[in-house]
Amino acid sequence: MFDVVIIGGGSAGLAAGALLSHRGFRVRLLEKDMFLGGRARSEERDGYLLDYGMHSYRLGENGPLARVFRELGAPLQFIGPHRLSSYIFEQGRLHELPDTLAGLLSTPLLKWREKPRMLAVIARMMGAGTERWYPRTLTEFLRIPQMTPGLRTLTDLMALTVMAESPDSVSAGEVIDLFRKAVFSRRKVGELAGGSAQIIGALQKILIASGEIIPGTRVTGFAFSSGRIRAALAGPDEHEARAFLYSAPISGLTGLVPRNLLPPEIAGFADRLVSTSGLSIDFGLAAPVTGILGAIFNQDPVVIGRFPSNIDPLRAPPGKQLSTWLRPITFPITREKIEEAEKTLRTVIEEIFPGFFSRVEWERKLVLPVMDGLSMQPGQDFPNRPASSIASIPNLFLAGDTIQGKGSGGDIAFSSALSATDIITNYLSNTNG
Ligand SMILES: Cc1cc2nc3c(=O)[nH]c(=O)nc-3n(C[C@H](O)[C@H](O)[C@H](O)COP(=O)(O)OP(=O)(O)OC[C@H]3O[C@@H](n4cnc5c(N)ncnc54)[C@H](O)[C@@H]3O)c2cc1C
Repeated sequence: MFDVVIIGGGSAGLAAGALLSHRGFRVRLLEKDMFLGGRARSEERDGYLLDYGMHSYRLGENGPLARVFRELGAPLQFIGPHRLSSYIFEQGRLHELPDTLAGLLSTPLLKWREKPRMLAVIARMMGAGTERWYPRTLTEFLRIPQMTPGLRTLTDLMALTVMAESPDSVSAGEVIDLFRKAVFSRRKVGELAGGSAQIIGALQKILIASGEIIPGTRVTGFAFSSGRIRAALAGPDEHEARAFLYSAPISGLTGLVPRNLLPPEIAGFADRLVSTSGLSIDFGLAAPVTGILGAIFNQDPVVIGRFPSNIDPLRAPPGKQLSTWLRPITFPITREKIEEAEKTLRTVIEEIFPGFFSRVEWERKLVLPVMDGLSMQPGQDFPNRPASSIASIPNLFLAGDTIQGKGSGGDIAFSSALSATDIITNYLSNTNG
């Protein structure tokens, strides 16, 4: 019998599976698709290496992904300089974004009288208690009576660091937590050599060294015995284990576990879940358009772009360039919103880089009903997210980017995998059966 059956082979399931295997437990991972990686999967295409949309790893060596790899004793290779200059497109030109105090004092994005006000905001963020601010919005925290254009630009960008379109809708505690960690982190954003394929491949290898992965296996329910799960059910097959880790968005759990067995707060959270959505388009370019290493932001409307092959030349064939653009869409996604997003995205790109489309050799469009598993709004903030264990089902555990992990998106997936691994280890060490 296996010690743990994991449902879902995305970042969280693979990370927890590799960690548990590394700790000596027998792990079987079931993945419904024929490929691994979930929303962090990647694909090769005519000499290009494509992530599933833009994927960066916040805080680099100080982030939760790096913590997973440290525990595994496995190498993790970030690429490019520690500081990747990012830009905002305003009034017809690109301005470098400040990411240091010196940069803030010298940036033309703020007028002289705006600078002390921005510094005061930063000082308050450094001293604020996150617990108090998790349930309130960034706008409530900022308390800026007369908003000016320069302050608006920078405070809107703070919300965007956790993929929220506006300070009005983002949990202040989440932004403050990330901001404080970023101040002390040399690398604010980590780009992986070879993209997300590097980590998915490495985690898979570690997991299968003593465990197994069965792709193409959708779990449709669980069999119970004496108040615990006995087996995960997939078609005619029963996968028995001592413990079960569900590592996909929590909204899917209510279809697998009878509602009367789920605590109402978990079922309610799953029912009300608001994700982030978007439209992502990758472009294969016949010749380079720009040498910019970091992100390119347009604020109104929000469009974000990157040129991943500028940091990792192996992501595109020699002489060509890979460019990836994202237009967030308010959840839930509709056909009209997708059409509007595509029009906006193309217009903004052409404004920033006139002639861009004359170099496009191919493009890949991704409609993303779920981008980050949850948006960082109050109510979905860290203390409000479901924990990794469920009191009513002692051998069912949770991980993934809708669970109580720190950060947003992939950070939550990796940090929840770390804490679920500890809780499962504890459970398996203290129970027989
Ligand atoms: C375009 C895009 C860009 C992003 N950019 C970033 C970024 O820059 N930084 C960042 O931190 N995050 C980013 N994210 C978010 C990040 O990709 C996710 O937070 C992360 O991949 C979530 O991992 P997960 O394991 O929690 O879930 P998933 O990746 O969704 O994995 C869940 C897995 O479970 C499988 N599954 C589901 N139900 C079942 C079942 N019943 N039986 C068996 N298998 C099942 C699914 O097929 C899937 O493989 C981005 C996401 C997208 C889409």
